[in-house]
Amino acid sequence: MVPSARIRSADARSILTRTSGFIRQAGFTHSLTPARNCTFACVYCYVPTLKIYGGLQREDWERWGQFTTFKQNAPELLRRALRPEQRIYCSPLVDPYQPAEASQLLMPRLLELLAERPPALFVIQTRGPLILRDLGRLTALAHRTRLRISFSITTDREDVRRRYEPRCAPLAERWEAVRALRAAGLAVHATLAPLLPCDPETLAEQALAHTDGDIIGDPFHVRSAKACGATTRPQAYQVSQRHGFVDWHDPEFQQAAVERIRARVAAAGRRFGVGPEAFGWLALH
Ligand code: SF4
Repeated sequence: MVPSARIRSADARSILTRTSGFIRQAGFTHSLTPARNCTFACVYCYVPTLKIYGGLQREDWERWGQFTTFKQNAPELLRRALRPEQRIYCSPLVDPYQPAEASQLLMPRLLELLAERPPALFVIQTRGPLILRDLGRLTALAHRTRLRISFSITTDREDVRRRYEPRCAPLAERWEAVRALRAAGLAVHATLAPLLPCDPETLAEQALAHTDGDIIGDPFHVRSAKACGATTRPQAYQVSQRHGFVDWHDPEFQQAAVERIRARVAAAGRRFGVGPEAFGWLALH
């Protein structure tokens, strides 16, 4: 749990943002970001490298993960902004079920509004088992729109998880959340992003066993392969150096790991993809 001193509230100017870049390429028209800054504070998080994008402020990217600012007027803004044709991704800039959401209770109000005025598609990107708190509202929303939950599982190794995302829930708890969401009839995709050091076949088998749809992934973004836009924070590279994982930042090594996952998933008759094309499967199916 994040200390309450780290949770702030402020009015936002807007709640739905027209998409650009990766998320637009994937087929989403809007993104919904309920808070600025994310106290999961993953060492690799690309969001602070975006600097001013999406209303981020200097303090956000300089003190990433140390506090979060909830958009207290988000429900009023969303009520006015929703349209039936929108394809909304929630969120490219924060995990909507970051720890502070446990006390802020913003998502239940937003889910109710979405059910009242459903868009064409609503995708929740999260790694937070806290989402199970809202199971009733999620199932209600799934009756009103195409609801997809993209659940981030980044490795099969708990020691790796602790090094790169120490404030996130253990992997077993995350797979259990995926199981519970699916048991409630919700559409859930395993999203292996970013792909942390792992045994690719074991991670593929876990994703196959816990889900039944397309599996999505994305290796660490690296500047040598991506000239501009969001990229992995330097802190992740430092962790990788300390623990002998720098290969996972090498595009050729990454490709080999991706192909190993793809082969295992394909052998089961399923699809594994990376990048905007694969995230686009969330928008199109
Ligand atoms: S959960 Fe997502 S948005 Fe939050 S710190 Fe981790 S990578 Fe960044």
